[in-house]
Amino acid sequence: VFDLDDTLYMERDYVRSGFRHVAEAVASDLHPSNTIFDFLWGLFEQGVRGDTFDRLVAAFPSIPMTAEQLVACYRSHLPAIRLLDGAHDVIESLAAGGCRVGLLSDGPLASQDAKVKALGLEAVLSPVVLTSAWGHTFSKPHPRGYEQFPEHWRLEHERLVYVADNPEKDFVTPKRLGWRTIRLRMDGQLRSCLEASSNDHAPDDEIRSLEELTGRLP
Ligand SMILES: [Mg+2]
Repeated sequence: VFDLDDTLYMERDYVRSGFRHVAEAVASDLHPSNTIFDFLWGLFEQGVRGDTFDRLVAAFPSIPMTAEQLVACYRSHLPAIRLLDGAHDVIESLAAGGCRVGLLSDGPLASQDAKVKALGLEAVLSPVVLTSAWGHTFSKPHPRGYEQFPEHWRLEHERLVYVADNPEKDFVTPKRLGWRTIRLRMDGQLRSCLEASSNDHAPDDEIRSLEELTGRLP
């Protein structure tokens, strides 16, 4: 089972794509899209999260949308993102070797849906489990998402593997359930420097590229 953000594609590419889209949607003669984009991307690079569009509206009061409308515009856009190098080949070779390959992801439903579509993942991964379809209470580390897979595939927890990037929430529950956990850790991920807060949150293995999975899974 793969995570989506910063596991099958780079999350910062999604952010960049969303900011470009928003910048074009609100651009005017007074504030061309590059000015708006540079402002948004500058905030992101400074580590600003959560109130970026409030700051945009405060800095550019002539923008014809509210922060809420900007968030909706960002989340619903069809992102220009691509799978990480090797992702497609790894998925294909796992499937060819008899593995079931699925997806488990959190995050706003509109965004996650648009990412799955843009990457063409429905054709290669099944099931695709987006926890936000049940409401944000069921975000990882809630077990509900993980529990879909043994049920759907009729496999024991012990035969499942989760490949993901975030030690804060990704590994603690599958470890407890008996899955094997593998962390993909690469430069450019939003949390590549984050260390697990305890042994319970630490992955069993760490890889630097998806290609390394080929040697580690049956
Ligand atoms: Mg992730």
